[in-house]
Amino acid sequence: NRRPFVVANWKINMMPDQVGPYLDTVLPALVGETEVEVGIAAQDLYLSQMLQAAKGTPLVIVGENSHWEDDGAFTGETSPKALAALGVEYVLIGHFERRKFFNETDETVNLKTLAALRNGLKPIVDLDEDLSAYGHLVPEKVILNQLQAALDGVMVAEMAQVTIAYEPTWAIGSGSAASADQAQEAAALIRQSLANLYNRDLANNVRILYGGSVTPKNAPAFLCQQDIDGILVGKAALDPRQFLTLVDQAK
Ligand code: 13P
Repeated sequence: NRRPFVVANWKINMMPDQVGPYLDTVLPALVGETEVEVGIAAQDLYLSQMLQAAKGTPLVIVGENSHWEDDGAFTGETSPKALAALGVEYVLIGHFERRKFFNETDETVNLKTLAALRNGLKPIVDLDEDLSAYGHLVPEKVILNQLQAALDGVMVAEMAQVTIAYEPTWAIGSGSAASADQAQEAAALIRQSLANLYNRDLANNVRILYGGSVTPKNAPAFLCQQDIDGILVGKAALDPRQFLTLVDQAK
């Protein structure tokens, strides 16, 4: 009963003149799509245009980051309250690149997750398994620490809005994805941990995505894993036709 979720993450790729043509390719192909939930994460600059174009279609629009305060004097940040008011449904929180290049920590990821939920956004919480932030801990322990820290203070009822993404540092943009078995193991571990932190029913309803060098070639192997409910795709999704192929593969 977990609906597959396929999300393109454009990062800061895509120039303004490419957004319209991309959507013109993707949107007609999504008419009547109910089986797979399809999202595109884009920089804030494009969100209004995308929301407008996606109106009345199944495409959901995803922010790439939002701040831990609702609004105020935080130049250059994105207000979760404004994102929600604009009509954005989901937001990536704690993406590997945010952690790596913008000093996001477990603590800020937690604050941002809480702020997203408080404002009615659905957070896609990224766990990057970055061992360097944890000294000697083994990967399994790092994932669990990141998960637990990110969800600190998130209530049972709010968990229905949360998606978890397992995107190991070493697999992102590297061209060397995790193996399907590795990713399944991590996803199962995350689900077990959600059962421990909350309860089994809740854990069974949370979607867990895999991200990191996903392509149409390796996607089917991830998508058929028991605990992997979708994919978060960077580079391969910059081509709208490849993105549609990935959506089809999730059916
Ligand atoms: P790549 O698919 O380019 O490895 O990027 C993955 C990613 O960061 C998705 O959020």
